[in-house]
Amino acid sequence: MNYYLGIDIGGTNVEFGILDESFEFIYKNAIKTESILNAEHLSDEIYKICSENFKEKIQGIGIGAPSLNYMTGNIENAPNLNWGETIPICEIFEKKFKVKTKAINDASAAALGELNYGENKNIQNFAIVTLGTGVGIGLVINGKIVHGKNGLGGEFGHVIINRNSNRECNCGNYGCLETYLGKNGILTTVKQEMEFSSGTSLLHKIVPSEISPKDVFKFARKEDPVALSIVEKLSDDLGYALSFLGNTLDLECVILSGGISKEGNFLKKKTLKYFNQYLMPNLQQKIDIKVSELNEINGGIIGAVSLVKD
Ligand SMILES: [Zn+2]
Repeated sequence: MNYYLGIDIGGTNVEFGILDESFEFIYKNAIKTESILNAEHLSDEIYKICSENFKEKIQGIGIGAPSLNYMTGNIENAPNLNWGETIPICEIFEKKFKVKTKAINDASAAALGELNYGENKNIQNFAIVTLGTGVGIGLVINGKIVHGKNGLGGEFGHVIINRNSNRECNCGNYGCLETYLGKNGILTTVKQEMEFSSGTSLLHKIVPSEISPKDVFKFARKEDPVALSIVEKLSDDLGYALSFLGNTLDLECVILSGGISKEGNFLKKKTLKYFNQYLMPNLQQKIDIKVSELNEINGGIIGAVSLVKD
């Protein structure tokens, strides 16, 4: 049996796992991104944890990372990582583990996960939107991932959805989708909405610095008006941004993955309502929004491993 290491580098957590040839997880773990100083430190930590917990030889490593240039295998100017401007992530892991290593944009890794595993295997034209600290997109057209000329495709989080916004993005622009739908963007909206509320919201019962997007959804389900208004706003923004894709590409579906997509049908239904409003009339009700079935097992890790498996 051959075993492969898959790594999903995110702005909050680095999740990794060892998979067998059937893409089944043999081992899984995660490290807080803020505890990692740089990519060399990450490779040392993962090497240590893997060798303590897994004795078989690993045949290859696949990595999904933000702002990853597919042409060079380097992470370039990632807005949500402080590990340097150009990070030769493949080279660093290859040197440490002495096995073949390949890397891809994290959202494209999630798209490869859908193409290789689970119920969406047969869909040929779709976009998967990763919602987390940042927001990304993996685009599959005619069964192939779109990398773009410079290998930098996938920065959907930096589509500007509000040209008059005063929300500055980590990329340097203002009003990017990520400043509304990324984790910190959602928390900015929470702060603004709470300032204008009467103080009766369930959200006021939590210490402000400890409120998470999960709390907002929990209270919205209980019909707390402030929490509901925040969820409506973010579903509206997401539906609006997705309509650019729908109108341009006439996709079979859009898959939501990671972070707030774990809120499932509650988010999906609201987003679908706005998405259809913004689609041109002859596309309305024709493009489905799905929630990734691979959310719990991390499709990004599976997708990253598929890069080195064959
Ligand atoms: Zn941006």
